[in-house]
Formats: sequence, structure tokens, C-alpha cells
Amino acid sequence: MCSDDSARGSTEAAREAPRTSLRALLARYMACPAESKPASFLAFVRSEDPHVFSHHASGRSDYRDHVWRVGGLYLCRGCTTVIVTTPVFLGIALLSRWPVRMPTAATAATFSALLLVSLLPLRDGPRTALHDLRRVSLGCLLGSALAYVVLTESWALRGVVLGAYVAVLVARRAVRRRHPG
Ligand SMILES: [Zn+2]
Repeated sequence: MCSDDSARGSTEAAREAPRTSLRALLARYMACPAESKPASFLAFVRSEDPHVFSHHASGRSDYRDHVWRVGGLYLCRGCTTVIVTTPVFLGIALLSRWPVRMPTAATAATFSALLLVSLLPLRDGPRTALHDLRRVSLGCLLGSALAYVVLTESWALRGVVLGAYVAVLVARRAVRRRHPG
């Protein structure tokens, strides 16, 4: 396998080591000579750092609660939940057209409730059902809001949804910068 064994060290040391970035892994994969290049980038990631998509320090005691192991890779449970639920709720909203069938005020109230739940401040500790609820709520909000932007005929309401999205994104970035992790 195309790897630098001296940099990897023992399994224990590797588990405590800071996570490799996906970009660094891709650069190393691209630099592999053809004869020792793994069959796929995914196979390379699996062998070099299967924790790269876990988003949590692999040395912590509750690590297993925060990840799912899929195909030899450790996936962040929170991010995976959002990635899987967003298209599901997008499909439900597009097919049922619920965001535009309800009065605008009711849709706004539903979106606000979903936003509040998806921003629940939870302690960084063992994963609970509330963590999952928070991520499902975010997936529901993202999918449904995207459907609303497609379905609504009002450019003003489209602007409100997109404006709220950008505002939340900027606010979350600022909070994360102050409280990383
Ligand atoms: Zn994550």
C-alpha cells in the first residue's frame, strides 16, 4: 500500500493523532506511483485514516456513540443523519407540497420550530436521542426550505428563506470559531 509507515506509528498512537484532512489524503493518493496506487480513493482512505469522516476525536471514550462504521469507514452520526434526511424531506415536501399548501404563517411557524430544535444547545458528551432529533430536524428544515424555494411563486418569500439561511450559516460559523468542536 502506498503509505509512509514511519508517520503512522502504532495503532494507539494513530488513534490519538490529529485527524488527517481529506485534502491531504487526496494529495497523497494522487502522488502515489501507479504501481502501488490502491484501486480506489476510498480504499486508500480506508487504509490510511478510516476516521477522516468521523468529525470527533477518535481517542475519546464516547467516540463509538458519535460514529457509525460503514464499509470500513467511521462516519459522523450527526452529519450522516443530515445528509440522508435532507433529500428524504425534500422529496416529501416536493410531492406533498405541504410548505405551500399551508397558510404562509403556519409554514413560517413550522420552519421556525424546526430551526429552534436544530439549534438546541447540547452538551458535548455522550450522544443522546436529542442529538439525533436535532440533526433530523435540521435535515427536515433544509429539505423542506429548499422545496419551498422551488415551489413558492413569491420572490419576496424566496428572499426571506435564503436570507434566513445565510444569517444562520454566518451565526453558526461565528459560534463555532469561538467554541471549536
Ligand atoms: Zn459531523
